[in-house]
Amino acid sequence: MIKLIFPEEARGACAVAVTDIAFQRCIAPHCGRTYAIDEVHLRCESCGHLLDVDYDWDRLKVPQSLSEFDQSQRSSADARQRSGVWRYHSLLPFASPEALVTIGEGHTLLQPADSVARYVGLQAGGLHLQYEGMNPSGSFKDNGMAAAFTHAAMVGAKRAACASTGNTSASLAAFCSVTQQMQAIIFIGSGKIAFGKLSQALDYGALTVQIEGDFDDAMRRVREVAGKLGIYLVNSVNPFRLEGQKTVMFRVLQGLGWEVPDWVVVPGGNLGNSSSFGKAFTELHALGLIDRIPRLAVINAAGARTLYHLYEAQGLRWNGGTIQSDPVEGYFTQLDESGKRADTVATAIEINQPVNFYKCLRALEVCDGVVCEVTDQEILDGKAQVGAGGLGCEPASGASVAGAKKLREQGVIAPSDRVVCVLTGHLLKDPDATVAYHAGDQEMFDRILGSRGVERARFANRAVVVPNDLDRIVEAIESESQRN
Ligand SMILES: *Cc1c(COP(=O)(O)O)cnc(C)c1O
Ligand SMILES: [Zn+2]
Repeated sequence: MIKLIFPEEARGACAVAVTDIAFQRCIAPHCGRTYAIDEVHLRCESCGHLLDVDYDWDRLKVPQSLSEFDQSQRSSADARQRSGVWRYHSLLPFASPEALVTIGEGHTLLQPADSVARYVGLQAGGLHLQYEGMNPSGSFKDNGMAAAFTHAAMVGAKRAACASTGNTSASLAAFCSVTQQMQAIIFIGSGKIAFGKLSQALDYGALTVQIEGDFDDAMRRVREVAGKLGIYLVNSVNPFRLEGQKTVMFRVLQGLGWEVPDWVVVPGGNLGNSSSFGKAFTELHALGLIDRIPRLAVINAAGARTLYHLYEAQGLRWNGGTIQSDPVEGYFTQLDESGKRADTVATAIEINQPVNFYKCLRALEVCDGVVCEVTDQEILDGKAQVGAGGLGCEPASGASVAGAKKLREQGVIAPSDRVVCVLTGHLLKDPDATVAYHAGDQEMFDRILGSRGVERARFANRAVVVPNDLDRIVEAIESESQRN
């Protein structure tokens, strides 16, 4: 049942085979309206809710066991077989093999980290860090972008846009520059983007539009502009993004020898990752490929705590899809009217109105999830522990370790639990935050961190300042190495 379509503009490149066993479906169970896979919608046209990519699994060839992926050809000459996203193609089969786009995403690492485990309060061997900084653009966003970009190419898009706190734009810009298939148009808020990320968008040649306002403003505008100009939108409101991000969990499971951990801990911004992880586990479970679903912990920064507020304080639930939108819309309106802006050093999660809010509620239900909030102080201390005991990460990723520690202290996570913290982005994305924390430059500390309530850098690793004199240098090294 393969349907061939020839999008007007994609003609000449290759005929794109689209299977009707993949489709899009409204997430609201009372609606459930479906759309063809080769259409572009950001919302259900009947009820306004988000869409999922869904499959008629009975008519697809699915793996009998996850261990079949151990034979996948990581050393293959075919880049799509090596991709950490597309080697799981049979679990996100919305495009035909010829249509898949890759820039080498998903070659990531699941790293055991005992010193971080000790900090969190877990037994040795109990904590793994899923390090997504190894992606080509340095964050997990490349997983989702591989899928969204593939869909954009399938429908013949020539321009793709996003609003971004930085990493989505870096990822889109990288896909555009490597493939030369599309022009990237990026919306950012003013002064709210880490320089590592901005430098990527500029260097990769993206058309970068800086809006006076924050991420939430940029998000609103990009949707309007994309609609008006017919530009393909790759924010995580795009359901194909979330398909690609499922593979983060496939790689976690593979890294654990296909054993399901007790907890997956992830920072929450627009809530794409958490939503996508919930979908991944729901599908694996329904296909009989895993026998239980791990618990999910989503970590908000205290300065961007919408999910925490509505889920933990107000007790809002998905309830099998009997979605109550009044408390959510009411809260968003209240935020708008009071002029309250998200504010955290973890700029990647500095978002007050997460677009995937309802999908995340669904994921929390499926995964018996919890939501936790952590201060910027806790985020940066957690980040410093990751740096000292692993590959390092940007501030937002430090939230997962800080959150795991807090949930451990609250007794929600047990000392013997097996926990995976997702490190969403590379250390070098935001060098200012790291240097402000460690360097001991009071002016820089006050400007970047002090204004956000961070009092001290508990794990600061200061440079030792010595005169340019051999004896004094030797002396300083000897005394410092004894001290440590
Ligand atoms: C985008 C991003 C997040 C937030 O992820 P969501 O899926 O939007 O919740 C967290 N950390 C980093 C480094 C990011 O780039
Ligand atoms: Zn609908």
